[in-house]
Parts: sequence; structure tokens; C-alpha cells
Amino acid sequence: MTHQWNEPPPFMNFPISRRTFLIRAAAFAGCLLLPPLRPVLSSPKSFPPEVMAARQALLNSYQNTLKSFLSRGQLPIIDVEQHWGRKVPLAELLAKMDRNGVALTWLGPNERNGNVSSLEDCRQFPDRLVPTTIGGDGPRWHGKDLSLIQELQADVRSGAYFSMGEFEARHYISSTNNRNIHMPLDSESFQGVFQVAAETGIPLLLHHEAEDALLPELEKMLSRYPKADVIWCHVGRNRDPKTWTRLPTPEGVRQFLKKYPNLYFDIVQSGPGSVFPPTGAHEAILYETGNGSPRLKEEWRHLFNVFSDRFVLGSDVNPGRWEGYDKVMSRFRAAVLSVLAPATAEKIAFQNAWRLMSGENWT
Ligand SMILES: [Zn+2]
Repeated sequence: MTHQWNEPPPFMNFPISRRTFLIRAAAFAGCLLLPPLRPVLSSPKSFPPEVMAARQALLNSYQNTLKSFLSRGQLPIIDVEQHWGRKVPLAELLAKMDRNGVALTWLGPNERNGNVSSLEDCRQFPDRLVPTTIGGDGPRWHGKDLSLIQELQADVRSGAYFSMGEFEARHYISSTNNRNIHMPLDSESFQGVFQVAAETGIPLLLHHEAEDALLPELEKMLSRYPKADVIWCHVGRNRDPKTWTRLPTPEGVRQFLKKYPNLYFDIVQSGPGSVFPPTGAHEAILYETGNGSPRLKEEWRHLFNVFSDRFVLGSDVNPGRWEGYDKVMSRFRAAVLSVLAPATAEKIAFQNAWRLMSGENWT
């Protein structure tokens, strides 16, 4: 039944006490004051009260950090994809973040260091680093070790983490590792990850090569778990124009975004000079290089402006690509953020990530 504004609310149709009326009226007024929801967040992110209080304390300190950047006139970035291997002191990461206007980093540890390592590291910089679980990148994940999934689920349900991953489905050999593997998205392991994401509202990062033949297994999961917020990493990349024909165009991405409201993308980190050796493909297809410096192609710029709530930024820096951090961030600023509508740039730089990690729109 739909409620008409000119009728009394349904609860006024029968006698209630004055106290009940006041409580309900306050709740009703509260609803009217809520900001309009942009994509409806899929889950309540509800944990026991003491856990919610601890999460809120952290969110308050993150919010203060973002506001301090804004008050200095600097557009803050939230880096959602940092593969932290504990190979250098954390202070070096903080120095890089400061240099590049990165306010917050979702600190994703590898399988070997484990979930708790992110908690330990983030405690050292509780206003800058965001607890994140491991990704699926190691022998236990790829060996389909289900005890890893049980540990992951228990840790996510504890409420101590704000994001998960990046989990590898199909993964080609990359510049810094030789994992040529495929963990199917409908495997029991991935079902466990999607399930806990849907249950808790904690977003997950996904790595999946966008071959046409590999899309159905992801689409099946996006449909089966509509409450799981999925950040598919590295959009704007095409590693094989022969087999990647459907997704990696702006039109293909647009169709996925329209079809799957729970899907987000992080924007590819590599520049136009980057070649994927097995195919020779220039993989970062979203840029043009007219005068030598990369610039977003018009059709991608249009896509980001239209679906401005659905893209985030991740450095994808790991110990092997550590030295590339400054370049990645300055490219995001110069080639992407600076050519977008200002409101879109703010969403992609930090507001969308904020919404995913907090469950609240940035205000
Ligand atoms: Zn990846």
C-alpha cells in the first residue's frame, strides 16, 4: 500500500498513547530530514552496539581527515586498493599519501600476513588507514581452502573491517607476479565471500579479466547476491581486443552498471604506455595522448560523469610497484579528476568510497 502525503500516517488511524505518538512523530520527522539516497546502499552495516560505537569513532576520525584536506582546498583521495606487503615502514606510505593528497588508504594485506595485520597497522595511523581484510591472492585462496573463508567470514562479522580484498577470479600473469590462474566466481570460496559481503554490507574488491567468455560467471553472482557491493578493479583496461569485446567499452560498462546496481569499478591504474606482453595490447584504453600527456577520452569522460556514483580510485600499488605510486596518483589527478565535472571528481576521488565504507552519503 502506498501512503499519500495528504492522509494521516497509518499509525494515526487507531488510538495510541501520547508517548508512542511523540516517538513515532519524531521518527517520521527524522525520515523527512534524511538526505536523498543515491544508489541505495545494499545493507544496514549493523553490528552489536559496542562494535557500532567503535566503528563510528573510527569513521569520525576519517571524516575529520577528509574535512581537513577540503578545508585546505585540496581534493582528498581515498585509495581503495593498496596491496600492503609490510616491506617498507608504514611511515613511508604515509609520506607518499601526504605528497599526493591521499587522505585515506584501505590497507589490504596479503594472505600470508593475514587480516589481523591490517588491524595492527591501521592502529598506528587510525585517522589515515582503514582496516581491510586479505585479498584472495595466495595458495590457500587458490587452493580452495575453505577454512580461509571461515576465518574471513568470522573476521568480517566481527565488525572490525571496512572492506575486503582484492579477490582474484581469473588472473593473468602481471608485471609483478606470475599467477596465471582461475578461481571461478561461482566456486564455494567466492560464494562465501559474496555471502558475507551481502550479510554485513562490507564491500569486496574483485579482480577478474574481462574476457567475453568469463563474464557470465560474474553476472550470475551479481544477480544472485544483489546486496553484495562489488568493486570490480581496473576498468578501462583491455588486455586482448580479440577476446575482450563486450565489457571494456564505455557502452559495455554502461550496460553492466545499469543492469547491476551493486556493481562499482575502480579505474585502471596503468597509463597509455602500458603494454600487456602476452598479447602486445596497449591495455589502458581510456586515454588519448594528443600532446604527449594522457587525457581521458571523451566517451569515458561522459560515462564517468553520467554514472558518477559508481567509480572509485585505487592505486593498485604492491611492493613490486611501490615506486610507481606518485605517478599513478598524479595521473589520476591530471588525466581523470581534472577533466571531470567538479561534483563528479569529488565523488570519484573520495565520496563514493566514503559511502561504501561508511554506509552514509558524504555530507
Ligand atoms: Zn587486480
